[in-house]
Amino acid sequence: MEKKDIRSYTPEELKKEMESIGEKAFRSKQIYSWLHEKLVDSFDEMTNVSKALREKLERDYEIYSVKMVERQISKMDGTNKFLFALRDNHVVESVLMRYKHGNSVCISSQVGCRMGCRFCASTLDGLARNLTPSEMLGQIYQIQKISGERVSNIVIMGTGEPLDNYENFVQFIKLVSNECGLHISQRNITVSTCGIVPNMKRLAEEKFQITLALSLHGSTQEKRRELMPVANKYDLKEVLEACDYYFDKTGRRITFEYSLVQGVNDREEDAKELISILKPRNCHLNLIPVNPIKERNFEKPTRQNAEKFKNKLEKSGINVTIRREMGSDIDGACGQLRRRYSEESKI
Ligand code: SAH
Repeated sequence: MEKKDIRSYTPEELKKEMESIGEKAFRSKQIYSWLHEKLVDSFDEMTNVSKALREKLERDYEIYSVKMVERQISKMDGTNKFLFALRDNHVVESVLMRYKHGNSVCISSQVGCRMGCRFCASTLDGLARNLTPSEMLGQIYQIQKISGERVSNIVIMGTGEPLDNYENFVQFIKLVSNECGLHISQRNITVSTCGIVPNMKRLAEEKFQITLALSLHGSTQEKRRELMPVANKYDLKEVLEACDYYFDKTGRRITFEYSLVQGVNDREEDAKELISILKPRNCHLNLIPVNPIKERNFEKPTRQNAEKFKNKLEKSGINVTIRREMGSDIDGACGQLRRRYSEESKI
């Protein structure tokens, strides 16, 4: 029988589970704290739990974690890139970024991705599988243990489409923000989606306080379809309605992400269309000069052109930033460290 994944239970679920094997509620509290506050990776470390119970747990449950296989540290800004191995030897990438306001970790939500965005390295080999809630947590827990520093912000912007792994992603949010665990404020969590409309609406109903970031990348339905196959399924109009719905239900301002690709979506008319979309909305725009990947011939605009694009939007009253490039001396774009690792291990 497959052992149960004990780190994927919320405190209430763990309490029920422990009751089902004849244990009292306070035991489940102790165990939860070992798993989610003290971040242990084995039952043996749970020193206030009796040996008999530890043995019982060992037999029927497993603490699924991730193992670091590579770490790169940027000399420029201290950004850390981690490559973690899962139980079945798949690898995922996570990033620790150090800001003045605290440490931010970017995690992966799937092994690979099936969304097919044209400029993205993570999708080139398609989707291998979804990550479990404990594998998403594991990336943060290991980073906190390895770096010895507290993580205060999370962005789910690594490999994968979180809303294509909806149940596991929602369970992860419940666990990581739970007061009996790391207790990361939901306001410090951002999830990025390419625009899976039904699940954006479902997420609005969860009444979380997390920020929703929408990967826009094109300001018309046609332009978006060129860059993002998911646009064939969900029309831009529907996607924007889902954003408005999320804002109405949660009061959280939407972040729009727009990867600037030279000559493709950074022209005068693109800016104009973008203004017409964003102006009526209470939102923030994050411009990301595209990180070129070797499999495609997309180029990033010059800094000057990116600034020009930004200024045009700013003049129309739009709240806009150009994403600061972190760790550009270590494997740059999303999914590139993992790709290099997989390519090297094939040789
Ligand atoms: N699946 C989610 C998370 C993806 S990664 C989503 O689509 O939103 C986070 C952001 O980085 C997305 O906006 C994604 O489109 C963008 N991105 C991916 N590869 C990029 C690249 N090479 N250059 C610039 N932005 C990229």
